[in-house]
Amino acid sequence: KLYNQVQDLKGSIRVYCRVRPFLPGQTSALTTVDHIEDSTISIATPSKYGKEGRKSFTFNKVFGPSASQEAVFADTQPLIRSVLDGYNVCIFAYGQTGSGKTFTMMGPNELTEESLGVNYRALSDLFHLSKIRNSSQDGINVPEATLVPVSTTSDVISLMNLGQKNRAVSATAMNDRSSRSHSCLTVHVQGRDLTSGATLRGSMHLVDLAGSERVDKSEVTGDRLKEAQHINKSLSALGDVIASLSQKNNHIPYRNSKLTQLLQDSLGGQAKTLMFIHISPEVDTLGETLSTLKFAERVA
Ligand code: ADP
Ligand code: MG
Repeated sequence: KLYNQVQDLKGSIRVYCRVRPFLPGQTSALTTVDHIEDSTISIATPSKYGKEGRKSFTFNKVFGPSASQEAVFADTQPLIRSVLDGYNVCIFAYGQTGSGKTFTMMGPNELTEESLGVNYRALSDLFHLSKIRNSSQDGINVPEATLVPVSTTSDVISLMNLGQKNRAVSATAMNDRSSRSHSCLTVHVQGRDLTSGATLRGSMHLVDLAGSERVDKSEVTGDRLKEAQHINKSLSALGDVIASLSQKNNHIPYRNSKLTQLLQDSLGGQAKTLMFIHISPEVDTLGETLSTLKFAERVA
């Protein structure tokens, strides 16, 4: 095993938290973030949420608003490299719309080398480490998904751009479709153990989840309400599965959503999961921020 640097980490589920900076033009005076340390974040709350108007949460890692894409990737890389040892790796970006999920997984709209997100960095790292040969079609069980063999990072980037374009087309037609759909990039890797000669099959799923915000039932109706309820259901089903895995329960409720059914083979067992939760710093998003942190606390 060449790349498995994460075996010694306790458990197979880890939770990272990232706080988005204030955006240009925003006044940064009012923030909910009270204090950040290596693995702890404390949130300033009105006293109804905690005795001292402050609540602390501890995760495997907390990235503050000034953390670079490079720094974030550096802490994700060992997990991604374990794919080459035949592990299944799932990385989820969770948080309310606008909290920075897509920024972490993909980057900003105008990509520069520095701002490249986890998916580009992960792919070029994997390609860099292996002598890649074109793979043939494999089994696939997602009805609307396409399996495309790739041999270079740029193959993958053009493929991802195409996927993003499809998402963007629906966005104009359906009003911010991207915050209301999950987007998943899956890479299958097949390799040979250099010592035993055994075939190793690993997979990596990078999932930019739909926005976790609760919708106000008084504001939406009909299909839009059904869709929102469906999203909430699939996110809480994902939370249930990860929480059951982290508690090492006998029964893991994979069947409660399509998302968890599709990822069943890649969650649990020998799989490694990273839940990357995202926090917006603005005071007016405090309610969603606390619900995101509570979700994360439950799966950690
Ligand atoms: P989400 O995907 O959760 O809806 P986005 O990733 O689209 O959120 O982020 C919302 C906005 O904030 C975008 O303009 C994005 O470029 C910006 N942004 C998010 N995270 C960061 C960050 N860490 N540094 C700088 N800008 C960020
Ligand atoms: Mg997004």
